[in-house]
Amino acid sequence: MMTPEQEQALEEFLQELPEDTQRIARIYPPTICYKSKQSPRYHYMILSYSDKPEGPDGAVTVTLIHGADSSLPGVATFGQEPEQLIVCDCGKWEPPTKAQIAERYRELQLHHQQGKA
Ligand SMILES: [Zn+2]
Repeated sequence: MMTPEQEQALEEFLQELPEDTQRIARIYPPTICYKSKQSPRYHYMILSYSDKPEGPDGAVTVTLIHGADSSLPGVATFGQEPEQLIVCDCGKWEPPTKAQIAERYRELQLHHQQGKA
């Protein structure tokens, strides 16, 4: 549950969005957790909405951040269609742990080194 102050802050945020983005952000607000139709075991939060739609027919897309229970904890994925999301709103989305972040960092470094080889 949001406090009245949080609800007001959300409303102010929504008011500043372009019309199409605002419509999507009201259906899929950034304040609750989601699961996806493809991988309903994992948790996501919406990090941002696209102001310059890149999706099919100029549809508004979102950037999702993967939670600690995801296969890619801490990874943000761009250009996602909000329609693939299932509203969860259990409030149990957890950010990636320090160990998960360290693991992701090692993977990225390894990937980077392989790219140079
Ligand atoms: Zn949830």
